[in-house]
Amino acid sequence: MKVGVLALQGDVPEHRAAVSAADPKATVVAVRAPADLETLDALFLPGGESTTMARLLELSGLWGPLAEALAAGLPALATCAGLILLSDRLEATEGAPDPPTLGGIDVLVKRNDYGRQRESFEAPVRVPSLGIEAFPGIFIRAPRILRLGPAAEPLAWRGTEVVGVRQGPRWGLAFHPELSPDRRLTRAFLAGARAARRRAQ
Ligand code: GLN
Repeated sequence: MKVGVLALQGDVPEHRAAVSAADPKATVVAVRAPADLETLDALFLPGGESTTMARLLELSGLWGPLAEALAAGLPALATCAGLILLSDRLEATEGAPDPPTLGGIDVLVKRNDYGRQRESFEAPVRVPSLGIEAFPGIFIRAPRILRLGPAAEPLAWRGTEVVGVRQGPRWGLAFHPELSPDRRLTRAFLAGARAARRRAQ
């Protein structure tokens, strides 16, 4: 398995370490230019700052090729700022410009809706597909998933609120699995990507 981590900005080393811990046999590559997308079996879009990431996607020439790869079914796990970039729609943030989005997950998301940096928090997250043991959710200036469209499937809940979604091969999480030692989500996503790769061969 060749697994890319979008490496323009954000917590890239943590994602690389999480992938290697979840699948020691995976080859992990940094994605910084269009050629890096070739032959990938899966891609992680890290947490970070979505407006900066969107700008760097344009500057690097990655925007178009990445949009095409995602539309062609490249499995992608998008965390926090990554989720913002894969959201089909953003609810405007007061007093701050929002980035354009690549889209691909049928949700309406609002950036920074849980409050400022110091209002970041940890909370147990329920992921029924992983079993009954709660997942440690780390939320850092997290985006809130306000609405799911019909193409999006809920994946994770905090109380009654959906904090993780998927649309086929694309997963979007408001929290940061790469910052917790629990590798179940990363492993489950990679298993799906591996099955998709086998089907394609
Ligand atoms: N607040 C950031 C943004 O809007 C996302 C925060 C994160 O990725 N931890 O891009």
